[in-house]
Amino acid sequence: MIASRIPLVSGKTGRPELLLIFGSLLTVIAIVCIVTFLLIREHASAQESATRGATTIAQLIDADVLRTVELYDLTLQGLIAAAQREDLKNVSPQIRHLALFDRSTTARFKGDILLLDKHGEVVADSSRIEPKPGNFADRDYFLAHAFNRDAGMFISRPFKTRCNCEDANQWRISFSRRISSETGEFVGVAVASMKLDYFDELFNSLDIGSDSTLNIIDNDGLLLAQKPYLQSDSIGKSFASRPNVVRILRDHSGNGSFNSISSMDYKQRLYTYSRVGNLPLTVIVALSSDEVFGAWRRTAILISGATGVLCVGLLWLTWLLARELRLRHQAERELAKLAATDALTGVANRRMLDQSLRHEWFRAQRSGKPLSVMMIDADHFKAFNDRHGHQAGDQALRELARVICANVRRPGDLVARYGGEEFSVILAETDSTGAQQIAEHIREAVERLPKVEGAELPMTVSIGIGTWTADCEITLERLLFAADKALYQAKDAGRNRVVAAPF
Ligand code: GH3
Ligand code: MG
Ligand code: MG
Repeated sequence: MIASRIPLVSGKTGRPELLLIFGSLLTVIAIVCIVTFLLIREHASAQESATRGATTIAQLIDADVLRTVELYDLTLQGLIAAAQREDLKNVSPQIRHLALFDRSTTARFKGDILLLDKHGEVVADSSRIEPKPGNFADRDYFLAHAFNRDAGMFISRPFKTRCNCEDANQWRISFSRRISSETGEFVGVAVASMKLDYFDELFNSLDIGSDSTLNIIDNDGLLLAQKPYLQSDSIGKSFASRPNVVRILRDHSGNGSFNSISSMDYKQRLYTYSRVGNLPLTVIVALSSDEVFGAWRRTAILISGATGVLCVGLLWLTWLLARELRLRHQAERELAKLAATDALTGVANRRMLDQSLRHEWFRAQRSGKPLSVMMIDADHFKAFNDRHGHQAGDQALRELARVICANVRRPGDLVARYGGEEFSVILAETDSTGAQQIAEHIREAVERLPKVEGAELPMTVSIGIGTWTADCEITLERLLFAADKALYQAKDAGRNRVVAAPF
């Protein structure tokens, strides 16, 4: 308790540890930020190169589909041109058939090529010289041309042929053009069907990886082709309400790319889409995210793991170092305390007294407030020692220190052992009257201490006080000398008394 009155030398405890922890945390945050930034950049670059690859595939499909559709269009235009020639009406059916379907052989995967009159009746058929009777007035392409003279080259919805032939089960689409009279009147339709196997063959020539898909949809969201088939009966079905298709069809630019989950198999894919020329067709390349980002994911796991270990290691080392620093500071504080403490009594030692005296002296000079110094000396202590022994003498000194401390209560005050059986007390901001009061309390308290066994008289102390005030011009040495002199005056005057130096 007594030792706790000694002010500590160092007041900067804990700061370096905080700085160390703060620095480490900042380093860890910086490392995490840098790694995150690099991983995000790598992710973006993986996505970019996959998109570039998918765009190339989509463009290849575009070009092939455009060329094929162009061939069908040429076939239709040739058929219309031949059908409108007056001179062909009088030739034999064989020659007429040859002339009408002259260009149709070039088209790939072609089904029937028909010439329909304005009622939808078949008037010419590429597969036979004598056309098989049939009416197609209910077909979407017929209606489109009948009611719209500007329908141009119309691409139908996917359908299956009505005939009972062997490839009746195959999906087809048809390309058609309106035949108008010279006055612009609707006179019929030229229509060519194409088997959707064409897309299968086209898709099979492209390698897109195992979990990715190639798709072609029309502007109504109907699926024309898919590789591989995610659902066996999906051809011809409308996907117009699926979020991904809605997003693609809504994009008027016709080209783009985005990451999304497939509504068919719920797998994450990178969608890249491209409109086929001016045709109502869109190619969708859906690359599997697992394949696109697989390598990135492995790298990310490796780097994140390594970064995690590094950061945890760094924080662990910081914790160890901070703990060591804390222990060192604690030891330093203990040492500083020991270096300032008197071993026998626990109050401040002479070294601490000198240091504090200088400190308080300069503080008093600056503030102009009074400073008192007390010199306390045990009376006849040599005799006490001789009579009761040094052990008892030491115990008496400890008691004396305790009594002095008990009467000096302000935090700025300091009790120190000056040497031997002499103590000093520094009383900051205390004038002579105040110091005399405290000294008197100490003197009385010592006198009241229980007598040592066998002693006739109680232990007493003599106290000398020196006080500096703003209006006296003396040095610190003079102040101490004055207190010492006052103590000797107290001794001379019969001991067990307080004498204040007259300033
Ligand atoms: P006075 O009333 O004039 O002060 O008489 P005194 O006997 O107290 O004076 P003096 O200075 O001659 O004696 C001081 C004595 O204090 C000497 C020594 O025996 C005793 N002393 C000093 N330091 C210690 C200590 O650490 N322990 C013990 N037991 N005694 C000490
Ligand atoms: Mg003495
Ligand atoms: Mg003495």
